[in-house]
Parts: sequence; C-alpha cells; structure tokens
Amino acid sequence: MIDFRSDTVTRPSDQMRRIMADAQVGDDVYGDDPSVNRLEEYAADLAGFEAALFTSSGTQANLLALMSHCQRGDEYLCGQQAHNYRFEGGGAAVLGSIQPQPVENDADGSLPLEKLAAQIKPDDIHFAQTRLLSLENTIGGKVLSQDYLAQAQGFAFEHGLKIHLDGARVFNASVRQQLPLSAIAQHFDSLTICLSKGLGAPVGSLLVGDEALITKARRWRKMLGGGLRQAGILAAAGQYALENNVNRLAEDHDNAGYLASELAQLDELEVALEQVQTNMVFARLSSGDSRALQHHLAQRGILISAANTLRLVTHLDVDRTGVDKLITETKAFFASNR
Ligand SMILES: *Cc1c(COP(=O)(O)O)cnc(C)c1O
Repeated sequence: MIDFRSDTVTRPSDQMRRIMADAQVGDDVYGDDPSVNRLEEYAADLAGFEAALFTSSGTQANLLALMSHCQRGDEYLCGQQAHNYRFEGGGAAVLGSIQPQPVENDADGSLPLEKLAAQIKPDDIHFAQTRLLSLENTIGGKVLSQDYLAQAQGFAFEHGLKIHLDGARVFNASVRQQLPLSAIAQHFDSLTICLSKGLGAPVGSLLVGDEALITKARRWRKMLGGGLRQAGILAAAGQYALENNVNRLAEDHDNAGYLASELAQLDELEVALEQVQTNMVFARLSSGDSRALQHHLAQRGILISAANTLRLVTHLDVDRTGVDKLITETKAFFASNR
C-alpha cells in the first residue's frame, strides 16, 4: 500500500533497525541509559536549550510541558485548531487540572495577539490564572513566520506568560525556512518534537526546555507511567532520525507541492494551494462524495484520509512514483465519473 494518510505511518528502515539492535542501553529511570542521555543532550543542543526529555509520544510531551509550566487552576492560551486542545483527550484538564482557553486561529495558523490579549484573565478570585501561551508550528502543514514568533514571544513576556511550542513537525518548518532549529526554538520557553512522524522513528518524542522545567517534567513523566527502562533501543532510532532524516524532509515538501499543483488542474477538486508549505495537501471535492474516491484509491493500493476535506501527507515512505500513481488514479476516478 502507498499510504498518504499521515507521516506517522513511516516505518523504521533496515539501517535504523540495525542501529536499534546495536544500541547501548541501561536503566533510564536511574539515568543510566547512554543512548537516551545522548539523544537528550543532542536534541537540547540542536534547539539551543539546557535540557531535553525523551517521551513515549508527542501527546505525553505536550502534557508534561503544560503540567510543568502550569499548576492546578491555571490556564493556557492556545488555538481552536491546536493539537494540544483538540486531539489530546483533554489531558491537561483531566490530568493536570489546567483549563485551556482557545482562540480562533487565523488562516495562516497564527493566533492574533489582540484576541489573545482579550482572553488574559485579570488577577481576580473569579478567574483561573493565565500562565502560558501555546503555539503550534507547523500547523496544518503551514509555517508560522519568524516575525510572528518574535511578536508572540514579546507579547508573552509583556504579559508575564511562558510560551510553549508544540513542534511535532517543527523540523518541517526549519527545513522549509532553511533555518536551524535553534532559530525557531529561541522564541520559546519549551518545545516538543515528534521523532515518529516524518523523521521516521517508530516511537518517541522530546520535550526541550531549561533544567528546572525538565526536572519537573521528569517527575510528571514517572507519575504518568512514562518512566521507561532500557529505552535506549528507541532513543537510538530517534538519534538516527535526527542525524539522517531531517534534511530529506525537503523531498517531502517538493512531493507535496508537485501533488498539489497536479491535483489543482482538476475541475472536481479545490486545492488550497497557498496552504501547501510543507508536507500536507488539503483538497475539497467541488461536489460528490470524497469517500467514493477514497474507496477507489484503496482498491488500487493507495490510502488517503477523506472526510469533509481530503488530507494527503507526503513522507519518507512515499516517493515520486507513488505520488504519480496517486495523481493518475485520482484523474482516472474523476474521468470515469464525468
Ligand atoms: C502528532 C502530533 C502530536 C502528538 O503526537 P503523538 O506522538 O501522536 O501523541 C502533537 N502535536 C501535533 C501538532 C501533532 O501533529
């Protein structure tokens, strides 16, 4: 199958598996796993931070960030579209007693500062205490501009808030902008990074921050059942991913751009071309049922996400031939339905 549903479907390569098999390991709860320690130091350095923490998932890394920045009864500002508001099971509220305060995202994925300002609660016993601003980059495949990040950082500082980045796909932003990770990370007090999406590791994310934050997060991680033992076997895959699979994200972006421009030629599809900045293409059927297209493609060995909109994600397990097959079969589907 050629799988365009998500970049989470990427599988560890043979070389990555060999490196995992050979990884030096120890008990990471004792701080003894050399492969985990190496990955955490390496990631902290890349981001220009003091420390990092290896976590079982991006959801866990975001939850640890929220619980380490905020206390019970605090709140965080985020986007209506934010992964750590919509797609993480309400974990901050359920497990952290932290209230989200979402605001509507602009079309470019940013959160307008005046909308955020209007939601900051005054110091009054009626209100939760606003502590944190959480952004996401990339968001829906879109890159937040460096200008916006600088403004958001200034805004957070001015209002006494910490600022966190859900950077599940921050390396897509870094590669697209030809900027080192640290240039993006410098605008934040903490960030999360997914190793298990386009970077191709089977498992794992990172939370990056200063020593004090990571010490708190390490305690919460243990409480949440995320203290792993010989985790070096997984960290080695993450290390391999960071050393080998970052720059090649540019190929995924090229493939997404090519896919979008080809699909945009079809009258039956409305492709959001200006939103195709990294590895995601969103398209809407002008009429008819996207599930019929999904079914047609699945019968030909191609998987896509189809609801109101189609979401097509490129990654290291789909090459240009696979993209061409998707284009050809999509064209054939619409031709046979005309
Ligand atoms: C995937 C994703 C996460 C969560 O990662 P999991 O490892 O699936 O828990 C968080 N934020 C964003 C933006 C994501 O895309």
